[in-house]
Amino acid sequence: MEVPTTGRTLNSIWTRTFTLLAALLLAALLLYKLAGIDAALSLFAGGVLILYLRDKRYLHALWKWVQSDQTSKLPPATGAWELLLAMLYKQHRRNQKQNDALTEALMRFQRAAQALPDGVITLNRDNQILWFNAHAGEHCGLQYSADVGQYITNLLRTPDFLAYLSQSDWETPIVIRLRTDRVQDRILSLQLVGYGDDQKLLLSRDITNIEKLETVRRDFVANVSHELKTPLTVLSGFLETIRELKLPAKQQEHYLSLMSEQAERMERLVSDLLTLSALESNNHPAEEPVNMSALIEQIEQTARQLSAGQHDIRFEIEPGLNLIGAETELTSALTNLVTNAIRYTPADGKVGVSWKLVHVNDELTAQFSVSDSGIGIPAQHIPRLTERFYRVDRGRSRESGGTGLGLAIVKHVMTRHQGRLEIESTVGVGSRFTAIFPSRRVVKNALSSLEQTMPKDQYAA
Ligand code: ADP
Repeated sequence: MEVPTTGRTLNSIWTRTFTLLAALLLAALLLYKLAGIDAALSLFAGGVLILYLRDKRYLHALWKWVQSDQTSKLPPATGAWELLLAMLYKQHRRNQKQNDALTEALMRFQRAAQALPDGVITLNRDNQILWFNAHAGEHCGLQYSADVGQYITNLLRTPDFLAYLSQSDWETPIVIRLRTDRVQDRILSLQLVGYGDDQKLLLSRDITNIEKLETVRRDFVANVSHELKTPLTVLSGFLETIRELKLPAKQQEHYLSLMSEQAERMERLVSDLLTLSALESNNHPAEEPVNMSALIEQIEQTARQLSAGQHDIRFEIEPGLNLIGAETELTSALTNLVTNAIRYTPADGKVGVSWKLVHVNDELTAQFSVSDSGIGIPAQHIPRLTERFYRVDRGRSRESGGTGLGLAIVKHVMTRHQGRLEIESTVGVGSRFTAIFPSRRVVKNALSSLEQTMPKDQYAA
């Protein structure tokens, strides 16, 4: 049925009611003429009773509908009631649509706020929490059911935050360290933004990792400065001595050789720093076939030169076993492992190098393994050896020309080649460093030689 506008509906309701009453009255008058007053009154009273019962029934049905969740249609009706209920239903539908649109808009807003990478907490004028998104909950250790309605000052009690909250200018975010029974240890950047009627948004960002990186960066700069300062002080001291004192030629020669040692040390350090920085700035290593036999041969020459015949050095290389990767990076990493073995193994010690295919839990890997019978490394130091400038024995490292960056370079190169470095060591017995490359880096033709029997390591630590 088509529903007229509200004004017209009211007129129609009155018209229908009057028409019905008028028709009843007319019928009663007619009956009065034909059958007398008793019959007419009975008809009128009967009609009014029927109308009363009908209205009562519709009213009851309407009452029940109002009490319900109002999802069902209004009950069908006749006469003026039909119009009245249709009008009510139309109005109800209009409200419902507006409600749905508002709910949808609110949901969209909440979904957008949830998707923000930052935490968002809305606060009222008394600093009570009205709402917060999941990130804010995680950052500040809030639980929705328990903490909505709570004062933010009860939950974030650090003095810096309380002072920030009480000031009027929130332009610059503050950094706080949060440690509560719900948050382990987190560094947060917090900023308040005022809006609406004295309400506030509290934006939170977890900067724990950024702060950690910043600490690493600061330590690194301090370490580099310290590492460079020592040889520079020695150099400038000697320079001054040579300039100011007339030294005999032999002594001058001695000083010059000490100076060139320090200059070499600085050169090695700068060169390792440049290597590290190149590894950190390049996203992907070159993907070129690397002739490993030639590369390892070159490493062997370097090793023999460094050892100057003081060690028993043996190389066992599987021919044709090559890699896909960056040749310069691989040379740098593998040379570091071999030269370390020589530097940390006393004269007459043994150094063994092997390059072969090895099955690890059903995975085929290519392994470059360096074993030595050197000084070994106490277990507690092993997990930290690949940190930049980490040394077990600072004096020994310096004495043998170490920069403290070698294993950091190895770790970087291995990660960039999706490989890993394994370290086993026993103090006073020796160490074994193994660079393990995944099968997808191994050149195909070498894979066919998998079934060849592998010679056993002679110098396993
Ligand atoms: P460094 O230039 O000091 O050798 P590295 O990063 O190459 O720096 O190695 C870090 C530390 O690991 C060294 O200072 C040394 O204490 C220890 N280390 C490395 N290789 C060996 C090894 N083969 N035997 C014993 N200690 C080693």
